[in-house]
Amino acid sequence: MTNYDVLIVGAGPVGCVLAERLATISNKRVHLIDKRKHVAGNCFDEKHESGVLIHKYGPHYFRTNNKQLLDYLSNYTEWIEGNYYVTCKYKNEYYPFPINRLTINKFFDKNFTKEDEVKSFIESLSVNIENPINSEEFVLSRVGQQLYKAFYLGYTLKQWDLHPKELGPSVCGRIPVRYNEDCRYVDHLYQFTPKLGFTSMFNNMVNHKNIHIQLNKEFKELDRKNYKTIIYTGAIDEYFNYKEGKLQWRSLEFNFKEVKKEFVQKNVQINYSDEFKYTRSVEIKHVTKQECSNTVISYEYPTNNGDPYYPISNLENERIYEKYKSLAEQETKLNNVYFCGRLAEYKYYNTDEVIEKALALYEKITKND
Ligand SMILES: Cc1cc2nc3c(=O)[nH]c(=O)nc-3n(C[C@H](O)[C@H](O)[C@H](O)COP(=O)(O)OP(=O)(O)OC[C@H]3O[C@@H](n4cnc5c(N)ncnc54)[C@H](O)[C@@H]3O)c2cc1C
Repeated sequence: MTNYDVLIVGAGPVGCVLAERLATISNKRVHLIDKRKHVAGNCFDEKHESGVLIHKYGPHYFRTNNKQLLDYLSNYTEWIEGNYYVTCKYKNEYYPFPINRLTINKFFDKNFTKEDEVKSFIESLSVNIENPINSEEFVLSRVGQQLYKAFYLGYTLKQWDLHPKELGPSVCGRIPVRYNEDCRYVDHLYQFTPKLGFTSMFNNMVNHKNIHIQLNKEFKELDRKNYKTIIYTGAIDEYFNYKEGKLQWRSLEFNFKEVKKEFVQKNVQINYSDEFKYTRSVEIKHVTKQECSNTVISYEYPTNNGDPYYPISNLENERIYEKYKSLAEQETKLNNVYFCGRLAEYKYYNTDEVIEKALALYEKITKND
């Protein structure tokens, strides 16, 4: 296929959803490229050499409150129940995380049975800070010193190589605190995993005669004059040749280890706040529910080098991003280039959130068709 209507740079969730919508609903000819050797972006999963299905770029726990979005994705996959349970190891004990009544009872040797008892107890621990301006203040104002030190401080230092004081309130603020015994990692209404994996789901999505997929292909290798419309899901600073400065990202190195046992951990993820260089160990088999006699554990080592995973939320990065954002707005007006997704918007989005963004962009682009 030549003479495309649209070029989409990046075959992650955003690129795949937009390709599918444009090809199926609007009958556009789409050129979908990715510099990696696969579709699905960071949601990519594959069989490890041991035969165990792994999430190559970190565990992906799909969840959403949006039924329409779930219905849309159900065109491309069946689902299995999400099994997202996290514990935090501290001083050789395992605690449910996010903090809930069980965490509090074990940590403080209490016997609370009612939500309001736990609520008042946590309130009695919290430090009175009216408008928290960083993650440390936020957590202290919510749960107080002891829980902050046990569950947040050490983990955050490893994860970001920054003190929670140097990070915006939202970094630690994303994690809920519960007064009941709900041990699920997240609160969302729908918590499901694609039955055959994310890669299978996204491959099904872009399997269409109007979509030409080219992998191992860099945007800069193409002549952009050949395309009337471009959707760009790569890093925004890279698009503008870093002319306003380089945006900082935190990355991870993964060490995958096969173990010849059915399971090693009790649940998918263990966070380590006071030992090891790695932040967490992940046994994704709890989520994929693959039936096999061996398993793989992945150990995550945060680093400043490598693939861009987590935007670093601080004033300097926000200032630089704002400049790119206005350049991007001009680029949309002048050259029909649309920027969408985690890398292009320098924002940590979960998968359901970027898919919502992609669907909204599709409506915007096609509203005058
Ligand atoms: C460690 C980690 C854990 C996560 N866990 C969860 C989770 O539990 N639940 C959840 O819902 N979400 C999770 N996410 C978020 C999820 O991965 C993202 O929301 C989603 O992948 C973003 O989709 P995207 O299309 O914007 O970007 P990406 O998935 O990053 O895809 C962008 C694609 O563009 C390609 N690209 C970039 N530049 C170029 C270029 N110049 N030329 C060609 N191709 C290019 C890249 O190779 C990439 O494949 C996690 C993310 C990370 C990093």
